[in-house]
Amino acid sequence: MNTTSIADVAEQIVQDTVSAMVQPNAGECLACYVLRQLNTFGCDGSHRFSRAFRDLTAPRATSLEVRLASMGACCCDCEIYMNAYESAQRDWESRPQPPCCGVRLGSTQPCGNWVRIRRYY
Ligand SMILES: [Zn+2]
Ligand SMILES: [Zn+2]
Repeated sequence: MNTTSIADVAEQIVQDTVSAMVQPNAGECLACYVLRQLNTFGCDGSHRFSRAFRDLTAPRATSLEVRLASMGACCCDCEIYMNAYESAQRDWESRPQPPCCGVRLGSTQPCGNWVRIRRYY
């Protein structure tokens, strides 16, 4: 006898859809992935998307959050784009997000779409 209720099946479908949405594309870099998620889901004041990226593609990069914090993104994902990385093409904010240039699997570096923000204090 199959004891799986329709509600359980529906719940499973929702779960599958959610995990499909947060899955990085093949070769997608941290910065493109997190921006794509922020554009869809918004920032909740944590590093949930950088953490998800790390867990899914580079589980051994345990110092990722420390590195982000050292670049000024101490508290949440959207700070990455205020303090750490900006678009390599200047007018990109006004246009749709370009496709990721790609990085090797296991890398937490941004692709060629991004440059480090250099602040002058
Ligand atoms: Zn934020
Ligand atoms: Zn990228």
